[in-house]
Amino acid sequence: MKKKYFNILFLLFVLSARIIVSGQSVRVMNELFGLEDKIPGKKQVTVVIDPGHGGRDPGKIGVNGILEKDLNLMVSLRLESLLKENDINVIMTRTEDTGLYSESDSNKKRADMRKRVDIINNSGAVLAVSIHQNSFVEEYVRGAQVFYHGSSVQGKELAIILQDQLIKTLKDGNHRKAKSNESYYMLRMTQCPLVIVECGYLSNHNEAALLSDPEYQEKLAWAVHLGILRYLNMNSGQEKHMDNE
Ligand SMILES: [Zn+2]
Repeated sequence: MKKKYFNILFLLFVLSARIIVSGQSVRVMNELFGLEDKIPGKKQVTVVIDPGHGGRDPGKIGVNGILEKDLNLMVSLRLESLLKENDINVIMTRTEDTGLYSESDSNKKRADMRKRVDIINNSGAVLAVSIHQNSFVEEYVRGAQVFYHGSSVQGKELAIILQDQLIKTLKDGNHRKAKSNESYYMLRMTQCPLVIVECGYLSNHNEAALLSDPEYQEKLAWAVHLGILRYLNMNSGQEKHMDNE
């Protein structure tokens, strides 16, 4: 009998916990992960967000004059808070308009990239996402695209999910597919799966205007955070499986 009452109490507890927990992304998290992820003391998953460029490196410059480094940071900060709402430990490579080099570095770009890789490799992160904006000589070219290193099975999986989620969330007729890149320094040097999200083309008038809009930035961050949650959900089963072995 006692066990029965305990079960009923536990059920009531679970139901009230489900009702108390609110907020759209928390609901998404619960649907994806189940309530066991809310157990206090459970090891947090770490994710690194890397807003590209910064400081004296503006990145691409939009047709409307907007700087890539600023957009990267704005999208990344929104993504950071969405992931934190889902109990994910987030490490940012930068949170201000600064590059990751010192004034004494002779090759600041190289120093900056090395430092980003160091942060990611020392973070214990399960994945890292670099946020960038694209540009091309032909004005009509547009659409978000995600890049991964060809030798990384998990990087490819993450990139495909993020590409899919960006297309579903933005609903802008983008037909791009996640693409491998074997030459980019950060893709080669990071130990955990890293993907580069090119949010759109600053050389396209319509897209540059959209990317400059805080609501659109929120949408982008929302898509990337949903994609990360989907990826973590798919891989949490594998972790549990490995733990049991
Ligand atoms: Zn860039």
